[in-house]
Amino acid sequence: MTSSRAQWSFFPPPNPSPTRGEGSDGLQRPLRDLRISVTDRCNLRCSYCMPREVFGRDFVFLRRAELLSFEEITRVARQCIELGVRKIRLSGGEPLLRHSVERLVEMLAGLSDSGGKPIELAMTSNGVLLAKRARALKEAGLTRLNISLDALDDAVFRGLNGGSAPVTAVLEGIAEAQAVGLTPLKVNAVIRRGVNESEILPLVEHFRHTGITLRFIEYMDVGSTNGWRLDDVVTAQETLTRIDAEYPLRPVAPRYPGEVAKRWEFVDGGGEIGVIASVTQAFCHECSRLRLSVDGKLFTCLFAAEGDDLRGLLRAGEDDALLRQRIAAIWKRRTDRYSQLRLAQTEKPHEKIEMSYIGG
Ligand code: SF4
Repeated sequence: MTSSRAQWSFFPPPNPSPTRGEGSDGLQRPLRDLRISVTDRCNLRCSYCMPREVFGRDFVFLRRAELLSFEEITRVARQCIELGVRKIRLSGGEPLLRHSVERLVEMLAGLSDSGGKPIELAMTSNGVLLAKRARALKEAGLTRLNISLDALDDAVFRGLNGGSAPVTAVLEGIAEAQAVGLTPLKVNAVIRRGVNESEILPLVEHFRHTGITLRFIEYMDVGSTNGWRLDDVVTAQETLTRIDAEYPLRPVAPRYPGEVAKRWEFVDGGGEIGVIASVTQAFCHECSRLRLSVDGKLFTCLFAAEGDDLRGLLRAGEDDALLRQRIAAIWKRRTDRYSQLRLAQTEKPHEKIEMSYIGG
């Protein structure tokens, strides 16, 4: 069935820009989000992130002493909050593989802005270990959870993750997260042409009427190991067209300026979905995100080749004021806009950092 609206552009005009001003980067973008990678390890081997051929038995992960401690992470987070951060997201690798990560959640959940307002504390997980951990995460103060799930069909799911886990493990994790009230819950799917396109509608059907927001993220050229090609990208427009043909959609206004996901709702009241058009509708002009790698380097873009080391400063006993100055200086000189330059860069790719190290 083809929707009469299939020819529409599904994308409204860009969001109004976030507040500009002091503390903005070189392109006038404020610092608002901090992503923290808490481990470079993962229990899956998804081909677009940690392909088994590269991250096999002989791959050398970071040693424990090289990772930032929870105290060091919290110190950096506190300085970032002073500089404008209002949302922190923990990722990895798979964050639930970091021993006692609930304790870190508790430490970060205790942070607030200068007005005493708690920051938003989120996590992105593959969900495989979630069934046993959801309650503890909720009790520790986690406020939002995103779960990556690229297929419902077990054979497709296992094919994507290197045969590391069954889809039932993730679905149980999602059910438990909902049961303990770890909401709002979002499920993120990356669709690749010829690989899991057939999963778009089953995913939609599964999560409609559940209160869980399903979001489709365009397949990106993160890192240097996933063999990305532009032809492999199923665009957000295409995904929306396919969904709209079966379950008519209408746009929902952004909740705040600079919201990365474009939101849509089912006309029949089945709930919401989102699309993140990171390749075809680059949102660098609104990107307010700083990334802290597992070993304490700050990256100002997901696609950055190099980061600035903070671990040295932390372990040299420097005080908070100096740490804050350093972070502020790194943000101030930031001019990254990789996605906007992507097509030109595709012809002349540069060496990039892997997503498992920097946090997706
Ligand atoms: S490419 Fe870099 S600057 Fe652009 S949106 Fe992504 S992380 Fe932000």
